[in-house]
Amino acid sequence: MVDQEKIEKAFASIIDAIGEDPKREGLAYSPQRVARMYAEVFSGLDEDPTEALGTGFEEGHDELVMVKNVRFSSMCEHHFLPFTGTAAIAYIPNGRIVGVSKLVRALEILAKRPQVQERLAAQLADAIDSSLKAQGVAVVLEAEHMCMSCRGVEKPGHQMVTSVSRGLLLTQDSKRQELFALLGQR
Ligand code: ZN
Repeated sequence: MVDQEKIEKAFASIIDAIGEDPKREGLAYSPQRVARMYAEVFSGLDEDPTEALGTGFEEGHDELVMVKNVRFSSMCEHHFLPFTGTAAIAYIPNGRIVGVSKLVRALEILAKRPQVQERLAAQLADAIDSSLKAQGVAVVLEAEHMCMSCRGVEKPGHQMVTSVSRGLLLTQDSKRQELFALLGQR
């Protein structure tokens, strides 16, 4: 569980450390707000993505399934600034399918942790792989990182792309081509 009281105290110190007055009207409740926000954006630390994926159905389906243009937001663990974008999540079932909202829910759980985009994609692919024993899994994330848009090199509008494939979606050319064709469609 996120300790909101600890965050409040720590954030009041940060306000003080940048030379601002933590008692000033506009800032007085900021430590509380930040504590509540952190409890929300790091709520995935207490949750297990494989649990969300646990309720599937035996359908005998073994063709590629994809959900794409799923908007997500996560927190870069290097700067504690958000990165936001879209996800495409694909898998080839081994007979067993899962509700589309469960895929999105697993993404949400993993995104609501201190993250790097590369690991977020890999963890989601592995959670789907282990929960569904899928024949193949692919996760493609495209996101803009505030730590690169608002500071440092200051390049708003960029898109960082990370792609992770497992099983047949890594090894079988025809399945990879199907994946890329579906990714390309609007
Ligand atoms: Zn960063």
